[in-house]
Amino acid sequence: MIPLSVPNLSLDILENVKETIETGWVSTGGRFIQEFESKIAEYVGVERAISCQTGTAGLHLALRVLGVEHGDEVIVPTLTFIAAVNPVKYMGAEPIFMDCDDTLNMDMDKLEEFLREECQYIDGKVINKQTNKIIKAVIVVHVFGNPIDMERLMEIIKKYNLKLIEDATEALGSYYLEGKYAGRYCGTIGDIGVYSFNANKIITTGGGGMTVSNNTELLDEMAFLSVQAKTDPLYFIHDEVGYNYRMTNIQAAFGTDQIDRLESFIETKIRNYKLYKEAINDIDGLELLPFRSNTRANHWFYSVLVDKEKYGIDRDELLRKLNDANIQTRPLWGLIHKQKPYLENRGYKMEKAEFYEKNLLNIPCSSNLSGENVEIVIGELRRYKENM
Ligand SMILES: *Cc1c(COP(=O)(O)O)cnc(C)c1O
Repeated sequence: MIPLSVPNLSLDILENVKETIETGWVSTGGRFIQEFESKIAEYVGVERAISCQTGTAGLHLALRVLGVEHGDEVIVPTLTFIAAVNPVKYMGAEPIFMDCDDTLNMDMDKLEEFLREECQYIDGKVINKQTNKIIKAVIVVHVFGNPIDMERLMEIIKKYNLKLIEDATEALGSYYLEGKYAGRYCGTIGDIGVYSFNANKIITTGGGGMTVSNNTELLDEMAFLSVQAKTDPLYFIHDEVGYNYRMTNIQAAFGTDQIDRLESFIETKIRNYKLYKEAINDIDGLELLPFRSNTRANHWFYSVLVDKEKYGIDRDELLRKLNDANIQTRPLWGLIHKQKPYLENRGYKMEKAEFYEKNLLNIPCSSNLSGENVEIVIGELRRYKENM
């Protein structure tokens, strides 16, 4: 079988894991945690990074320290993995869902239109006219590692005095090549950025997350809350309700090795993307979606758009055929505004997200996917077209 996306692990990690066992540092203390935090910080070009259990935990911490409270609202994308949105509910706040544009990222025109037409701006606060609630923050996702138009986004964020969380869980290693943010990595520009090291992400610690920010107070606060808000370590004094969200040394023992290999993973992903692109764009009715120009995207996931009229079969039939041929593919996530817990929440002028949800397919993209296997996938995609 050719899997969709699997971890790319090296047995070198065993050396690190052995050390955690021999020293007994298996929990939330130990040298690998700090080493991994420093390596990530250095890689994305920030002073400090704070590790946590999962990307979801990182997003929860971010919302908490940015002051999102019960009854507030947060603008979020609908076309993404639900983990980007659930933490809003953890805080007792409510999401407002935005459509995507053709990059699959949040539609900036609609975001701006919503803020202009549907909100009032009073005493530096954005009030949703329909609900009378305060909109505190925006969460954006760099979907599949494709960097969002950050210049445009930051202008909107500043104009309306909103907080910005960059869900960069899929975008570790993506950065901007031109403009105001040339050389800056996804995750390092908004108030807080969050990375994930779940098994399907570009590097993995089994499960894990990391938060970054240019505001050291926010970082200190997140670190503090992640260890049960312990004010005095000896006498166990706690002045706030915290969480048990700190990364373990075992997770970090994977991370210090994985981060060293990230650039080579991205190279392979870009090589395979190019192989796919040349072939797929020659097949009438299929298009491999591009990553934004003027960026170095990490090319985490590849998306194929299926035009049934031209290709002959629709996305779901293609998905079945590929899976029958032992090529693991999957449809896009179900849109979040249509999921049961979010049916009461507003989805603003949904249009493109519905289209892409129906017609996109993700094809094998692991960082250890061989060129020969890419050719096998391409061969199948051609074959179904020719059989029409
Ligand atoms: C993977 C992912 C997360 C959550 O990461 P975990 O480490 O699995 O909790 C959040 N948002 C998006 C968009 C993701 O793809």
